[in-house]
Amino acid sequence: MGVGFDDLTRDEAITLCKNLIEEHRGAYMVTPNPEIVMAAWDNPELHRAICDADLVIPDGIGVVKAAKILGTPLKERLPGIEIGEAILEYASNVGKSVFLLGAKPGVAELAAQKMQEMYPKLNICGVNDGYFKDDAPVIEKINAAKPDFLMVCLGFPKQELWMAENAPKLDVGLMAGLGGSLDVFAGTVLRAPEKWQRMNAEWLYRCIKEPWRFKRIARLPLFILKAICKRIRKFFNGKG
Ligand code: UDP
Repeated sequence: MGVGFDDLTRDEAITLCKNLIEEHRGAYMVTPNPEIVMAAWDNPELHRAICDADLVIPDGIGVVKAAKILGTPLKERLPGIEIGEAILEYASNVGKSVFLLGAKPGVAELAAQKMQEMYPKLNICGVNDGYFKDDAPVIEKINAAKPDFLMVCLGFPKQELWMAENAPKLDVGLMAGLGGSLDVFAGTVLRAPEKWQRMNAEWLYRCIKEPWRFKRIARLPLFILKAICKRIRKFFNGKG
């Protein structure tokens, strides 16, 4: 449906992230859900930013369902925040540094404090809110800190475009576009309870908590319908 995903288990994805951190060449990971895939249909720049990413993981049950419908199943859904958590744990264990970029002023600091409580050995080498006007001073600040892992939490499509544009200028290991993750780490937004997560209904929980999101996910049935139509076309063309 226009976006190629890496078909990985959670462990495989984490291993790849560790390798990219070691390479330290400004790699970036994106975590599209159906909303982001659909936005990429109408936004060539976003589409390019996703296609150029070093790692594209499926953050959304809709992506996993569509892949199955298309006859190209993905091993599992990999919520970006969980991969982010696994990297933080790894970073804390092996002494890698982390920079937090994004969210409203004060939130990244609060997230840093909470992360430090969770992982006392974690080296958080810098934070910056996500409402800056000029990229240059932010890039300078990040490059002075040389983080192994940069969390880019600017919401989509800003974070994907920002990473694609600035990757060549950044002295970082791996960066990841992780949406509202800093809000969750800071505790200003709560993730769905585990029961909802297990039922793959995290999206519904978020919509109930933040009703303005209903408008954003209203296109989800269209996404699944497009997958079905594509599969039918493949079938009649003798390819599936
Ligand atoms: N955000 C930001 N800069 C902006 C716009 C948004 O740092 O210019 C932050 C916002 O404060 C929030 C996150 O990006 O912390 C977006 O969270 P959301 O859960 O809406 O992520 P999305 O679903 O857009 O990926």
